[in-house]
Amino acid sequence: MNAVPATANALLVVISGPGGVGKDTLIEMLLRRNPSLRYSVSYTTRPRRDYEVDGEHYSFVSVQEFESLIKAGELLEHARVGGHYYGTSARRVEEIQAAGVDVILKIDVQGAEQVRQRRPDGVYIFVLPPSMEELTRRRQERGDPAQLNLDRQRLAEWEMGFVDHYDHAIVNDDAERAVAELEALLERERVRRRGR
Ligand code: 5GP
Repeated sequence: MNAVPATANALLVVISGPGGVGKDTLIEMLLRRNPSLRYSVSYTTRPRRDYEVDGEHYSFVSVQEFESLIKAGELLEHARVGGHYYGTSARRVEEIQAAGVDVILKIDVQGAEQVRQRRPDGVYIFVLPPSMEELTRRRQERGDPAQLNLDRQRLAEWEMGFVDHYDHAIVNDDAERAVAELEALLERERVRRRGR
């Protein structure tokens, strides 16, 4: 791996949480409001959704390409989620941080465990729903079919069991409020690091 040393001051922010909790919305809002923060685009083998742009939402690759990335040591972490591969480019994360810019990852709990092993300096944040009932309701609203919803419910319950592995837990009861809490939390982390 072509390692670029991470800048001590730039944050590595890892965000996890069950599907439907609103991670995408929170991250979009955070990025819009904080130009000093950049999203690391992941690789995935899942099919592109209509509204998604290759290279912006994900880098869409074949299973073969993904396996080559693993073999070449290009991935900081990778996991299978819902039958598809997802992985973080080690190079992208390093390049963003080397430029002194904070980097944000939206990854599942398995991926976060791997990143924690390699990057204990990261800021690990878990987004919680106000309740499991509310999570189910949001997924239904999104149009997930009933069977899918049941599978996702089980997956969500399993993922929620990892909340204690994270440095911070944030309840997404209201996106504006949750983003403000996230911003305050990141600011505290920056101040803490400057003091080291
Ligand atoms: P979706 O297919 O709905 O975009 O994402 C499904 C799940 O994959 C989400 O829970 C998200 O956190 C996870 N995910 C997205 N990118 C990555 C990645 O690079 N690594 C890992 N481990 N999980 C990811």
